[in-house]
Amino acid sequence: MDPAFAVNREDETSPIRFHSEQITASFLSPDGSEVMKSLEVRFDPLLGTSSRIAEGVVLSKADEDALAPLQAPNSGCPFCPDRISRVTPKVLEAIHHSGRLERGESVLFPNLVPYSQYAAVAVVSQRHWLALSGFTRQRLFDNLSVAVDYVRKVHAFDPRAENCAYNINYLYPSGGSLPHPHAQVYLDPHPTTLMRLQREASIAYWTAHGRAYWEDLAETEEARGLRFVARVGRTRWITAFAPMGFNEVRAVVPDCETILDLTDDDLNSLSAGIARVLQWYELTRYNSFNLALYSGPLNASRGWRVHLSMISRTAMLPYYRSDAMHMERLHWEAAVDRPPERIADDLRAHFAAA
Ligand SMILES: [Zn+2]
Repeated sequence: MDPAFAVNREDETSPIRFHSEQITASFLSPDGSEVMKSLEVRFDPLLGTSSRIAEGVVLSKADEDALAPLQAPNSGCPFCPDRISRVTPKVLEAIHHSGRLERGESVLFPNLVPYSQYAAVAVVSQRHWLALSGFTRQRLFDNLSVAVDYVRKVHAFDPRAENCAYNINYLYPSGGSLPHPHAQVYLDPHPTTLMRLQREASIAYWTAHGRAYWEDLAETEEARGLRFVARVGRTRWITAFAPMGFNEVRAVVPDCETILDLTDDDLNSLSAGIARVLQWYELTRYNSFNLALYSGPLNASRGWRVHLSMISRTAMLPYYRSDAMHMERLHWEAAVDRPPERIADDLRAHFAAA
């Protein structure tokens, strides 16, 4: 079967449309012969945003030598067990009495960099270094559980903080600044760009069809089979029709509008699924990734279903750190260090000095 036909074939019973277009790029090679390369432009069924699948795009794979310095003990790491209780900040007492939330190896505390109003870091492991296969179901379950507990406590303290997501940047190519495995909680009165776009589009879908988009997506993909991967508990794992990044895998939790609706069984299923995907990334020789688990707004989330997206990043290379992390890649939200007005001050002086 022509792959384009397989991708474009519509399921008459589903309102979800998978639209793509095949394009051919032609040019002359240095020896004068004509080269034709295929390009496919795909449109996300919910947002209409487009992605490109282009012949020849390459993501570099693991280099063991580049990992060696990260695997060695690091006496300056703030997340290692001998320093974490002395150097990391504490949650306000009115939110949680003992300052940090702990479960298994996981420890959660506020993020020194406030990417969101109640930004938190949740260290995944007592070990400074984990191969991707070291992100076990148990470690991820403990980490997700502590993050959900934190969201519940903050929301009781400040109901305006209703937009939340659980995120991971792993290793420098993912935008992570510290290699010690950790997750980041986003919790803020404002959604990120992607969460806002998804909310608007999912409400429109609910209004038009009376159903949650992500539930229809999971069912449609499972029925078609082309991008369906597995069920883990009640969670459904699929690949993205119009990906946001390399090797993107998504998961949907049916009947769950917000992170606070997730049961222990759901947290277990999500943890098991994430661990399986990370094992596969490792087998295919990637070691850096981003992950985002998106919650519907805690106060009003009709039409939303909790869903997850994870992508592999270029493998770890010496002296390399990307400035694009989960915010830029999986939330379409820039996070920069200085106000544009200060940059303009500097530039004015620079221009004037010419
Ligand atoms: Zn460490």
